[in-house]
Amino acid sequence: MRAPDDHDVTTAAPGQPLAASPSGRAAAPASILALVAVVLGTWSAPAPARLLCLGGAAVLAPALFALWRRQARLAGALRTSRAQFTALVRSSADPVVLLDDSLRVTFASPAIAALLGRDPAELPGLPLAHAVHQDDRRTLFATLRTQADDHGELAVRTARIRTGDGGWRLVQATVRDLRADPEVGALVLFCSDVTARREGPDPELLELALTDPVTGLPNRSALVRRLAAVQRQGPAHRASLVLLSVDGAASAGPGAETAVLRALTSRLARELRGEDWLTRGKDGDFVVLVDGGVADAEVVAARLIATLRWLATPAGRLTATAGVTGLAADVDPGEALRRADLALHSARTAGAGSVHRFDDALRSAEDRRSALSTDLAGALARGELRLVFQPVVDVVLQRTVSVEALLRWRHPELGDVSPQEFVPLAEESPLITELSRWVLREACATVAGLPGEELAVAVNVSARHVHSGELVADVVAALGTSGLPASRLVVELTESMLLDSHVADELQTLRGLGVRIAVDDFGTGWSSLAYLAGMPVDLLKMDQHFLADVEHDPQRRALCRGVLQLGTSLGLPVVVEGVTTTGQLALLRDMGHRYLQGYAFARPLEAGQLADGGWPTAVAVGLDAPAGPAVPS
Ligand code: C2E
Ligand code: MG
Ligand code: MG
Repeated sequence: MRAPDDHDVTTAAPGQPLAASPSGRAAAPASILALVAVVLGTWSAPAPARLLCLGGAAVLAPALFALWRRQARLAGALRTSRAQFTALVRSSADPVVLLDDSLRVTFASPAIAALLGRDPAELPGLPLAHAVHQDDRRTLFATLRTQADDHGELAVRTARIRTGDGGWRLVQATVRDLRADPEVGALVLFCSDVTARREGPDPELLELALTDPVTGLPNRSALVRRLAAVQRQGPAHRASLVLLSVDGAASAGPGAETAVLRALTSRLARELRGEDWLTRGKDGDFVVLVDGGVADAEVVAARLIATLRWLATPAGRLTATAGVTGLAADVDPGEALRRADLALHSARTAGAGSVHRFDDALRSAEDRRSALSTDLAGALARGELRLVFQPVVDVVLQRTVSVEALLRWRHPELGDVSPQEFVPLAEESPLITELSRWVLREACATVAGLPGEELAVAVNVSARHVHSGELVADVVAALGTSGLPASRLVVELTESMLLDSHVADELQTLRGLGVRIAVDDFGTGWSSLAYLAGMPVDLLKMDQHFLADVEHDPQRRALCRGVLQLGTSLGLPVVVEGVTTTGQLALLRDMGHRYLQGYAFARPLEAGQLADGGWPTAVAVGLDAPAGPAVPS
């Protein structure tokens, strides 16, 4: 292993092995010497041979001289590059340490003196283990002994390192494996001090688990302390946060996920400047403390998201979204992280790859969310919730065959709140199970009480209710008290819920009772034919986004036909949701779609209207079909 010294021009900068070899450098002058030797050696030969030799030399000499000059220039550039690297390593405020195969120090740059209070000249030969806190050895050494990726990248690791006076510093090291590089032949550790600098030695801090065990990055506790330290530097110091949420790593499976996260960490770390600080936040997100304003943070976020395009993993391509916010001096670290979280939420709704910045509008939206959340808890008891029912029409038999029960909330001050807004809020807590249970009871009772009708009723069920393990018991109770036959109840679930094996068991039990299962919003999830074939499913509800522009867009029409064919090949009827215009209605009917639901027939109806028969029980299904009674949805 070669340590970088001032005389050796062959040592490469980490990551940029210098290409020219010593033998290459010597080649041109040697060739000229050889030519001179040949000329001198043939001087005693007969005159014609001498003339021939001199002629050849005259032709070759300019070419060899040019070659020699080029080699000399290359060697000069090499020396300059080497000198620059050496100067860089020596003058860098962040220490660089080289390790051999047995993890002994072979070189430490002068900056190590400021970090650890130790003379760099004393360190070569010492085992790294002597300096690392015993609790941190396992993670650090496991990393140092793993195989690097194609770029020689290993990981970013944080560990407590012993100082010259017996104390500890928290050091973050970006590790590159250049052992295979003949010019370096070492593990290279680019170190930076991540101990909250202004706090001085703090044994309590060091005792805390400040490191994320999977990635080795500082964790949220470390970040919060660092944020407080940065804020103490005053308003003149601009800092901001990027909260990055990466999707897709978990699909690599539990074994491979760790490897994916480590590769991801290396990739992200490589995209950051030395002044920016990469950490692991809660829920597996990444947080970057950016040395700069919020506009800088947006640039950093976009760069991090873009770099994922180049990271191939066993889980396939990863995607990410980010929220950014400035770190104002008057905002405590917890609030700054909440702001970044709000911005991230907003970015998520905009879709993968989005970067959103926190602003006051987001804060108002959050205030509304939390007010609705609080009020929703008592809405059922206060009688603010009710069900409406939207018909599903069979265009062959020309009659309504079922109704979908849809929840409505009239807030005393805010008026009607859409289920798209409050159902997700309810899903964040066990409240959804309570609401779902009420919906089941109410829907079954309403439809069972309709005079002379054999209508089925479809109820939307949330993932949380299924996972509560109470769904089957709640269905049995709702059927029991209402007297509705099980065959007239349809339970609607979304595609993603079917991926859960526990859910499949519950559904199987429900089907055993005679209840039918529908896949709601079909086409918005994974839509895997192979997977669906094995699932306990009775019908598909095609999502309404398929109908957007279907009258004018041939591709959309092909998709609508495709979903119908998919259903037919699986032996499953398809219900088309959101049929709004007579044009769509005509198209779908011509394609062979039989079951349709939407404003073109009826808006969701109040329970009283169902009982009064004021709804299209036997609509004349055609282009001139009258729309159902107008009830706000
Ligand atoms: P969903 O189950 O896919 O319900 C269909 C939605 O499409 C309903 O919106 C319905 O009013 C709307 N819709 C029906 N016909 C048309 C049309 O012709 N054009 C358009 N543009 N829209 C139409 P709604 O009632 O706002 O419900 C939205 C979502 O809220 C539902 O989507 C469902 O996911 C959820 N939801 C509603 N009620 C419940 C419930 O009781 N429990 C659960 N877990 N979720 C519910
Ligand atoms: Mg539905
Ligand atoms: Mg739907």
